[in-house]
Amino acid sequence: MFLCPNCREGHPDLSMRCQLCGWCAEVNDGILVALSNADRRDDFFKGYVENYHQLSLTDMENAIVEKSYQPGGEDAGLLRG
Ligand SMILES: [Zn+2]
Repeated sequence: MFLCPNCREGHPDLSMRCQLCGWCAEVNDGILVALSNADRRDDFFKGYVENYHQLSLTDMENAIVEKSYQPGGEDAGLLRG
């Protein structure tokens, strides 16, 4: 069961609009965002999220783990046991 980030009302899934407070999840670049309305408006939180978004873009350009540890990496078969 999913709990609404605004009012903590229980819902069977994230795709539903909260019947108690009207909260609804957003989709950003194909990723479900389940922030409360207060967190969506908070400038400090927006900066925090933007910082991690920029880090993820950098990490996509320059991987921080060896290829053998990535799915489908050249030595991935060794990790399967
Ligand atoms: Zn709610």
